[in-house]
Amino acid sequence: MTSKIAVVGSGPSGMYAADALLQQGLEVDVFDKLPVPFGLVRYGVAPDHVSIRSVRDTLDQVWDKPGIRFFGNVEVGRDISIEELRSGYEAVILTYGASSDRRLGIEGEDLAGSVAATDFVAWYTGYPDYSGPDFDAQLPKVSSVAVIGVGNVAVDVVRVLSKSEDELAQTDMPRHVLDTLRDAPIRRVVLVGRRGPVQASFTTKELKELGELAEASVEVRGPDLDLDEWSEGQLADNKVASRNVGVLREWIERPARQDAERSIDMRFFSRPVGIDGSDCVERLKLERTRLTSEGRLEGTGEFEDLDVDLVVRSVGYRGEPMPDVPFDSGNNVIPNVDGRVLDGDTALTGVYVAGWIKRGPTGIIGTNKKCAVGTVASVLADREAGLLTPADGSAVVGSLADRGIVPVDVAGWRAIDAKEKEHGAAQGRPRETVSSTAELLAISATAHAT
Ligand SMILES: Cc1cc2nc3c(=O)[nH]c(=O)nc-3n(C[C@H](O)[C@H](O)[C@H](O)COP(=O)(O)OP(=O)(O)OC[C@H]3O[C@@H](n4cnc5c(N)ncnc54)[C@H](O)[C@@H]3O)c2cc1C
Repeated sequence: MTSKIAVVGSGPSGMYAADALLQQGLEVDVFDKLPVPFGLVRYGVAPDHVSIRSVRDTLDQVWDKPGIRFFGNVEVGRDISIEELRSGYEAVILTYGASSDRRLGIEGEDLAGSVAATDFVAWYTGYPDYSGPDFDAQLPKVSSVAVIGVGNVAVDVVRVLSKSEDELAQTDMPRHVLDTLRDAPIRRVVLVGRRGPVQASFTTKELKELGELAEASVEVRGPDLDLDEWSEGQLADNKVASRNVGVLREWIERPARQDAERSIDMRFFSRPVGIDGSDCVERLKLERTRLTSEGRLEGTGEFEDLDVDLVVRSVGYRGEPMPDVPFDSGNNVIPNVDGRVLDGDTALTGVYVAGWIKRGPTGIIGTNKKCAVGTVASVLADREAGLLTPADGSAVVGSLADRGIVPVDVAGWRAIDAKEKEHGAAQGRPRETVSSTAELLAISATAHAT
């Protein structure tokens, strides 16, 4: 019997963990609830960031190695339980990510037209059977958008909403998404941050891109760059913030572009306090803020209404618990020490965690590699210490078959990959994402047709 390790999730952390295990000569079964692998590299990273998305090619090479199998379209916690995985495998590594949204907790947040960035990103990346707000119906009526948040995801959303048809032409977005974005009458996109530019978490490369768009001009308010004592103090130790402030100051000096079809309006020190409208979003209510000399945020009592048709809330991703797995609901992560899942003070034998659900939604894709390798080191040490019981996964494979579940395997994924490239080539693009689960499964099945 060849003992195997189960990895739950085929995002970067799952693929890096699998690769590290394979390098030790171990065998791995990777489960994903979606019919396709790579998690947020496929359904998060902005489609116009072609070079970052090409990380997929590196992750894809892991499937070519001996000893790995893919079980796509199998949701752990629904189709198979953690207990079944624990008894069916020598160890289980949970890498299922953190893909829910955080809320603002303000009045009007549930009005039609107030949406989470998680939904908007899922729509434009072609998440299988996307079932969130109907952007194909909404965007044709939207001329003004507020994006709340000052991280890289907020900047992605602003950029995707502001790019021209030509600038999006080479992406792998589904055709209907490209058509909807092309026809949307968007004239103004406002980026709203509660604190100042020094406290923003976007990176300089992403910020600069906003100033280089074909049809959009960026506007920054001069007073937002008159830094208070606290922010000046922070700049000294923060190179990214210092570069960001430099870029924003350059933009203030730049003459306004007369030819721009759209404006990107950057508003710092503006706290959303309510969203207003009769049936759908009509206004975002903001309060001007400032920082105290200790860096505390306080309202100034000056309010302003921003007329907008769409509010996109981009204030962070959040992990969710998995049935029968301990969860730290304060930090929305699985409690662990060096990747060993903790139940109270004791490690749960044979259960490990890596990636966003271990650390929270921070860091770049590469951060997950170090994180996954660290977790695999704990698995190896526990094996060495004789703490794990060998098992080859056959009981789990048998249970899936008994339940009528036909997982997407590597050959199925390869068929999907080839078909998406073929759809793209027909339109002069590298790929077009297939966004229907039924279609993905039908294409996968062709890999096994006799
Ligand atoms: C909008 C957005 C843009 C980003 N852009 C960049 C960027 O430009 N550059 C960069 O370096 N980083 C970027 N990131 C961060 C990067 O995507 C993450 O660091 C990385 O994807 C986290 O990896 P992960 O494997 O922990 O989680 P994920 O990538 O989320 O993978 C988790 C996987 O688990 C699966 N899963 C979930 N639940 C289950 C279940 N019950 N059973 C089975 N499978 C399950 C999911 O389907 C998914 O495939 C971005 C993130 C977001 C949200």
